[in-house]
Amino acid sequence: MKQHLPELIELNHLLDEAPAVLSVRVAQTVKVDGVALPIHVLALGNPDPSLPAIGYFGGVHGLERIGSQVLLVFLRGLLNRLKWDPTLHRQLETLRMVFVPISNPGGMWRNTRCNPAGVDLMRNAPLDAVEKVPFTLGGQRLSARLPWYRGPVGVPMQPESQVLGQVVDEELGKRRFSLALDCHSGFGARDRIWFPYAHTAKPFPNMPEVHALKTLFEETYPTHNYVIEPQSRQYLAHGDLWDHFYLRARAVGSAERVFLPLTLEMGSWLWVKKNPSQLFSRQGLFNPRPGHRLHRILRRHLLWLDFLARATCGWENWLPHGRTRLKHKKMAMVEWYGWRLPS
Ligand SMILES: [Zn+2]
Repeated sequence: MKQHLPELIELNHLLDEAPAVLSVRVAQTVKVDGVALPIHVLALGNPDPSLPAIGYFGGVHGLERIGSQVLLVFLRGLLNRLKWDPTLHRQLETLRMVFVPISNPGGMWRNTRCNPAGVDLMRNAPLDAVEKVPFTLGGQRLSARLPWYRGPVGVPMQPESQVLGQVVDEELGKRRFSLALDCHSGFGARDRIWFPYAHTAKPFPNMPEVHALKTLFEETYPTHNYVIEPQSRQYLAHGDLWDHFYLRARAVGSAERVFLPLTLEMGSWLWVKKNPSQLFSRQGLFNPRPGHRLHRILRRHLLWLDFLARATCGWENWLPHGRTRLKHKKMAMVEWYGWRLPS
C-alpha cells in the first residue's frame, strides 16, 4: 500500500505562504514507519479569553481524509481573504479561531481509521456509555486488531487525543462561549451535524443552545440540507472524546459557560451511489473521487464552517435566555427526544 500524506504537503505549502498573524505550533510529533509526523495547531484572531472562540478539527479518523481537505480549503480561503477583506479583520478582532486540520497524521499516513497504536481516537476517552452500545462499533477493549479499539484500560489517552484535549482546555473550554466542529465522513446517505451526547441517550445540558443555533442556521440559510441531531439518535459509544471534553470543561467552570462540540459527518452515500465501484475501495467509502464531485463536496461545507464562525462571533445576539431558552428546550425535546406536547 502506498503511504503518503498529500494533506500535510498542502498544509506545509499553506504555512509557507501564511501571514505572520497566523500562529503555528507543533503540539506533538507522531512516529510511524520511521517518519516523524507533526500535529499542527494553528490560530487566528484575538486571544483575549473574554472573547468567544471556535475550534475546527479534522482527520481524527485517518481514513476520512475529506475532513482535513475541507478544513484546508477553508483555511486557505481565510488566509487569502486576510489580504483584502476588512470584514474578516474586524471579525478577528472579537473572535479566536483555532485549527487542528490533521489530528491523526499517523493514521492518515497508513490509511487507517485508528492511530498507529491501533486505537480509535473517537473511542479513546475514559468515559463509558451509560446504556448498551452496539457490539464492537460502540468501542471495545478486546484487541487493537479489531476495529473501534479503545486502548488499554487505566492508561493516559493517546497522544493525539491529548492534543485535542489540550486545545479544548486552553483555547475553548474556559471561555464564556465556544464552539468546536470535528469533521468526519462515512456515515449514511445524508450530511449530518451531531451534537452530544454519544455515551447516553439522555439530552445534554446545552441542548436548548444547539436548538437555537439550528434555528438561526435555518433562518439564515433555509435551503441547507443537513440533518442536525444528537449523536445518540444514531448509536451510542464508549469513550467519545467530545462528550469527555465537554464534561471536563463543565466540571471546572461555571454552568454559565457554553461550549458546544459539534461533529460534521459527511454522508458517503452521496458520492458512493454515483460511483458504486467506490463501495469496493476503503478509500472510496470515506472520500469522494478527485474531480467535480470532490469540488462539490468541498464547496458544500464551506458555508457551514463560515456560518459557525459568524455565529460564534455574534453569540450574544442569539443565545437564548429565560423563556426563550425554555421554548427551545421544549421544541428540542419534541424534535429529538420523542416528547409530545399536550394538544
Ligand atoms: Zn470518523
